[in-house]
Amino acid sequence: MKIFIYFLNSYSSGEFRMPYKDPEMQKKYLREYWRKRYYLIKEDPRKWKQYAKQSYERTRRNKLIQKEKIKEILGLNCFICNRDQKINWHEKNGKEHGAGDYHYIFKNVKDFVSLCPVCHRFVHKLMALYNKSWNDILLFLEK
Ligand SMILES: [Zn+2]
Ligand SMILES: [Zn+2]
Repeated sequence: MKIFIYFLNSYSSGEFRMPYKDPEMQKKYLREYWRKRYYLIKEDPRKWKQYAKQSYERTRRNKLIQKEKIKEILGLNCFICNRDQKINWHEKNGKEHGAGDYHYIFKNVKDFVSLCPVCHRFVHKLMALYNKSWNDILLFLEK
């Protein structure tokens, strides 16, 4: 797992290309970035559309990359029963979670696990009705 997290960090820093780690520098960088963009659009308003398209496509591409990476890390089989169809990504703390927020899952991938719909429902029932935590469930399953 550690090596995956390492890989993930180096991957995300490479992919999203934020050149500074320091939050103040990040802010400065972003301000500069948007200022440039603003002046370019002011010069030629058609650029707005072009940027919107670029940005949309980049987001979509990143999402697909993130989805593939999540699959790679969490695996294609249910963690509990090993079934390999209709896999959901379950957040271990049992929080209500959407299925398609790949960015969030990718950023917090160590808090997620692959589950088939049956095991997923069962896990949520154990959590809600019997107040079981993910660790309780792991103990119960002797995993
Ligand atoms: Zn299962
Ligand atoms: Zn869940």
